This record gives sequence, C-alpha cells and structure tokens, in this order.
Amino acid sequence: LHSKLPDIGTNIFSRMTALASECGAINLSQGFPDFPAPQALREAMARHAMHGHNQYAPLAGLPALRETLASQLVNDRGVDCDPDTEITVTPGATVAIYCAITACVHPGDEVIVLDPCYDSYEPAITLSGGRAVHVPLDAQTFTPDWDRIESAVNPKTRLIIVNSPHNPTGAVLSRHDLRCLETLATRHDLYVISDEVYEYLVYDDAAHHSVLQLEGLRERSFAVFSFGKTLGVTGWKTGYCVAPPALTSELRKIHQFVCFVAVTPVQQAIADFLHSLPGYPGQLAEDYQARRDRFCSALAGSRFRLRPAAGTYFQLLDYRDISDQPDTVLCETLARQHGVACVPVSVFSQSPDPEQRLLRFCFAKQDSQLEEAAQRLCRI
Ligand code: PMP
Ligand code: GLN
Repeated sequence: LHSKLPDIGTNIFSRMTALASECGAINLSQGFPDFPAPQALREAMARHAMHGHNQYAPLAGLPALRETLASQLVNDRGVDCDPDTEITVTPGATVAIYCAITACVHPGDEVIVLDPCYDSYEPAITLSGGRAVHVPLDAQTFTPDWDRIESAVNPKTRLIIVNSPHNPTGAVLSRHDLRCLETLATRHDLYVISDEVYEYLVYDDAAHHSVLQLEGLRERSFAVFSFGKTLGVTGWKTGYCVAPPALTSELRKIHQFVCFVAVTPVQQAIADFLHSLPGYPGQLAEDYQARRDRFCSALAGSRFRLRPAAGTYFQLLDYRDISDQPDTVLCETLARQHGVACVPVSVFSQSPDPEQRLLRFCFAKQDSQLEEAAQRLCRI
C-alpha cells in the first residue's frame, strides 16, 4: 500500500509507556493521572452504564451535557454560546482537532503550527493534503514571536493552530498574545484551532485566556477541550469543540462520518457530575500545583535545572549540567538504568534547537511516585 503518512511511527507517549513497563520504571512520560478520578464521577458512570441509556446519543452530544457546558462557559469565561449550534461533544479532543482540521484544510493549503507542537496536528493536516509550516516558539520562554509568525503567512495560509496551556512546555499564552493572534488572524483571514485541553491547569499568577473571549477570534475559531484532562479520565476519551454555528456545521459534517457520536453513558455521567459540582474544574489547579511543587522541591538537590511550569501537568527539566547526549538517548538511559521514564522534548519540533537539553516529566502522579522518581533523579 502506498503510505499516506510515510514518516509517521508509533507516537512517543505509547513508546515511552511501553518502555517504562518493560523495565519497571516509574512512568512520568505519558500524560495521565495515576490516581482515581472523583468517586461521584465514577459512580455516575457505573450507574448510567448499568441502568441508563446505552444506545447512540444525538449527533451533537447529549443536550444535558451541552447545556451544562454552556453554563460553565458563562460562569468561568464570561462567554455566551448556543449549546445546540455551537457545542459538539466528541470522542476526545483528538477527534475534535482532526475534524476541525479536516473541515478547514483543502489540498495545497498551509497551516501554521508552533514548535514544539503536540503530535496529532500535523498528520491530520497532511491527510487533508495540506502542509504544516512550523514556526518555532522562543527557545527560552516558549512564547510566540508574532512578527516571525506573520512572515510565515502567505496567500496559501488557511489556518493557525495554537495550544495554551502548552504541551510539552507548560507555557501559557497571555492576553496580549491572544490580541496579537486576533490581529493576525483577522488581517489575513485565517481560521484558528485553539487547543485548550489544559485550560484549568494553570498555576501561580497565570490565568487561562480562551480564544472564545475575543470577538475577532470567536468568529473564526474552533476551541477544543478534553474531559480527560479536566476530570482526570483520559481513558474515557471524551471532549468537545466550541465554534460559531457556520464552523460547527462544517465540523459536524465530518464528525458524523469519523465517529458518528461520542459514548452515551460517559456523557451522561459527566453531565450529572458537572451539574452537581459546577465548581469542580476551577478547583483543579490547587491540587496539581501542590503535586508540581512536591516534585520540584524533591528535586532541589539534583543536577537538573527546573524550568518554570505555568500550566499543564508537565514539568521540564534541563539536563545540560549532566549530559551532552541527545534527549532521545538520555530518555532511554533514564528509563533503563535509573528507573524513571519521561519524554524527550526535541521530538515535538521539526528542527529542534541542537543546544536544547530538555526532558518532560508528568507530575499528575501520586506523591509516593513523584518522591521516589525525584530521589532517583537526584542520584544522577
Ligand atoms: N491536545 C493536547 C495538547 C494534549 O496534550 C492532548 C492529550 N492528551 C490532546 C490534545 C488529546 O486529548 P484527548 O485525550 O481528549 O483526545
Ligand atoms: N497528551 C498526552 C501526553 O502528552 C498523551 C496522549 C497520548 O498518549 N496520545 O502525554
């Protein structure tokens, strides 16, 4: 078969998780919590699977869930949206992103992505016959250079994809950044996909700003969210996309033939849970920040340099004082010889900075795991 994705192998997260289990390493590589989701959520899931409705949901998602999400958007972001025409529940953010890219990108179009960049965007662009144009974020701060981004725009540019809080670096876009994005997207008439799956995981003085909050972006953006992150259930693969009616209608045309609908009892359980505990997502940051701080203070005596994580559940460690090896090689050594699995940061960029020496560690893990991993890292 003539491959449509000739250069794509198995993703880094699955590879590192497999390596961690092969050598019994503590797995701080793939982003998922190793502690249980709220009991009320799991009980709601069991109840709905047992006694609820186990057949197809409506195409756009269960109305009760979409209405709850519309209220959450008003309360948490001050954004009004119509749950019938602007919210679509999907089997995970990945599917929402795939459908949004497929809806926008025609053969020959260019799409701007900012490196380091989450791995699911480019394959979807390629499958639509588009071309990803990689523009690096600042190597120190991981902030966008809007002039540099603008110079990559040409008449073929159709779409720009942003992600804040940012995987893998933990950087968060400021309100100023969103204004620059708004100016750029309006001036060049670009669509925007905003991957906001870590919206509630922001720390210290950082705040999450959504594209939905800026008028010029609201009308041209697909904002993508994941219950995997917000409720700590990555295995439930459920997320949603908020976009204006005309874009939602295009997205749904594709969604109905990629997957038809998202899983019914999961949607019912999430709707129940968010309805009874509407403030739950807003309280997440405190718990995750404590985990980040526990991991970082346990690393105090190590030779790794800590890079500040303003958001997500990933901590970057700079190993320049320890080794000159490429991060992909050091990752393997850390898992095999030191019993800690993490993710190399270079794999998220088309042309990684050769001087960069960064590894990504997921701190959505139990205290005992974070402390034991940090002790092992301190011995290196
Ligand atoms: N975007 C980013 C930046 C992510 O880290 C993830 C993570 N898992 C996703 C999208 C996909 O989310 P989901 O599991 O809901 O498909
Ligand atoms: N987004 C998660 C991470 O960055 C993993 C998702 C996946 O394994 N595809 O680790």
